[in-house]
Amino acid sequence: MSLNPTPTSVAPCPICGAALRGTADSCTACGAIREFGPTRAEVTRTMVIGGVAAPAITALLHPSPVLLVTMFVVGLVGGFYVAYSRHSVDRWVRPRR
Ligand SMILES: [Zn+2]
Repeated sequence: MSLNPTPTSVAPCPICGAALRGTADSCTACGAIREFGPTRAEVTRTMVIGGVAAPAITALLHPSPVLLVTMFVVGLVGGFYVAYSRHSVDRWVRPRR
């Protein structure tokens, strides 16, 4: 058993199934791109969800303006980390048209 992947290994494109080199970072057949980490849109979306959800939940439990502002910031920061922890792996993204 070899722990090192061979540079000549071939893996199918997850989007269109075309044969790709294991080290390829884009698909020559369909234009899909291998990405690492979240896109800007994903970070923004998760931060907005966090910034809305955290104060909303807090408002139900303990309505207080100071606490709501605090939870808004906590939600934004939390959403930022959620985006990075969810998407911190290699993945293939469909070509943008
Ligand atoms: Zn492809």
